[in-house]
Amino acid sequence: PKTGIYHCIVSLGPQQEIPIRPHLDTASLVLSQFPQPHLAETRIAFIDSTTNRHLSYGELRRSIFSLASSLYHGLGIKKGDVVFVLSPNSLLYPTICLAVLSIGAIFTTANPLNNPSEIAKQVRDSGAKLAISTPEELHKLTPTGLLTILTSPSSDSDGSQLLSIEELIIQGSSDPKELPQSHVVQSDTAAILYSSGTTGMSKGVVLTHANVISIMRLLQWAVDLSASQDDVFLAFIPMFHVYGLMFFGLGLLCKGVTSVLMQKFDFKTMLAAIEKHKVNNIPAVPPVILAMAKHASKAGYDLSSLRRVGSGAAPLSKEVAREFRQRFPWVELRPGYGLTESCGGTTFFVSSNDAKARPDSCGMLLPTFSAKVVDNETGKPLPPFKEGELWLKSPTVMKEYLGNLDATTATFDSEGWLKTGDLGYIDEDGFVYIVERIKELIKHNGYQVAPAELESVLLSHPMILDAAVIPVEDEETGQIPMAYVVRASGSELTEDQVIQFVSSQVAPYKKVRRVSFINAIPKSAAGKILRKDLVSQTKNQLASK
Ligand code: AMP
Repeated sequence: PKTGIYHCIVSLGPQQEIPIRPHLDTASLVLSQFPQPHLAETRIAFIDSTTNRHLSYGELRRSIFSLASSLYHGLGIKKGDVVFVLSPNSLLYPTICLAVLSIGAIFTTANPLNNPSEIAKQVRDSGAKLAISTPEELHKLTPTGLLTILTSPSSDSDGSQLLSIEELIIQGSSDPKELPQSHVVQSDTAAILYSSGTTGMSKGVVLTHANVISIMRLLQWAVDLSASQDDVFLAFIPMFHVYGLMFFGLGLLCKGVTSVLMQKFDFKTMLAAIEKHKVNNIPAVPPVILAMAKHASKAGYDLSSLRRVGSGAAPLSKEVAREFRQRFPWVELRPGYGLTESCGGTTFFVSSNDAKARPDSCGMLLPTFSAKVVDNETGKPLPPFKEGELWLKSPTVMKEYLGNLDATTATFDSEGWLKTGDLGYIDEDGFVYIVERIKELIKHNGYQVAPAELESVLLSHPMILDAAVIPVEDEETGQIPMAYVVRASGSELTEDQVIQFVSSQVAPYKKVRRVSFINAIPKSAAGKILRKDLVSQTKNQLASK
């Protein structure tokens, strides 16, 4: 385009139009699209792959209303209160999410792998009034003093029974008329999900009901084009992340499909679940696609039911995509790109043949999106095929970073474009290519690792004078964090000691996996770490080995 601004060229079409009315809230919208009452009792929304428990759409609807009623009438949770959820995927996750949203409260999530101090920080930042946790994760919340409800019955250390979601569901009324009118407006916050964005520590991404409703509308549009109503989905993507939450916690429920939930990812368990439940559709991440391409056929499971596999959250290499297509020629593989700040999905392949023909691309902009590829130096929009930072506009783009005006201002330009921190280009047909991540963020197995967080842990070591953390490419996991460390003079700190020190203070997926000692961290005149220099220095060193 002459202007350098790209707009999505496909429209949602009349069938997929969901009017965004000023008072339409996310929960009412999702519930209004559940299967009709005569189908709702037999149509299965979720199957727990561990316990084999099934939850029908009818049961799901009743539990959402009962829990909402208990949260409101019993626990006094009201519009605008923040509810913090700490749990792996479970049958209760969508119930909790929709119950919280249906009373106008705000849903916030954390990675259950995070340690107690990481959790405490997020609880403080989000301003949560209530937490919901599994009994296994409860100890991470206890130090915060936050009132916590458990996902299954358990007693605390002195033997007294703690309140569980199941009790709240039994106690509450499933009559929607007994619920308060939440008077949600579109600009009200629906969810706060955490992301480090382009720089610094993890921040609360404030997503409004308008953002969430818009992404659900897009998701439904994409599902209508690329899946069947009868598809059985597999859900191991965690619902604390935007990808899992928007798919399984909300969006797919509007399509009345069945999802098989996995509490956590395990390759063999996944293959067994595909065989047992005749799974057709998997929203996946590159490390899983790699594992399937390399190891699935040797494992001996029947995977012939598979029809569609998506890839998101990190780049999918074209070699891995090719290998996957060779192994699974009957499966449509569609990579996509998105970020928490845009409420997840941003690009999508309407046709799986386009995906095959353009193995470097992650699809076209979704409807309602506009994009600009911006020259880093001049700030000017670039023509097709020229690389620059991808900037986005869409009704799905977050409102702000919670309580962090500086980060918000740095992330949006004066016209409201979201700076993604991803380097890429768009071709003449509108296909988007992400070439490199220019923001600091490291992605390990699809999980976010913020270098700034690891650097602050490293700097707290008495024998470390300075440190910088960068990503190193890794075939299996995408990237691993590597630390450059300046030791205090006379210190004999070893690589293992540094690795140990960090790993004792952060969640396992964040740990530094490689250390190099250096005399000084390269910095700009303004004192900013020159990460690019360290990244290219490391690449050269690894290549010459
Ligand atoms: P998150 O907010 O955790 O979803 O992380 C978003 C970031 O993941 C993006 O800004 C990209 O850097 C990266 N990402 C997601 N999808 C892709 C993709 N298909 N190709 C390259 N990078 C991706």
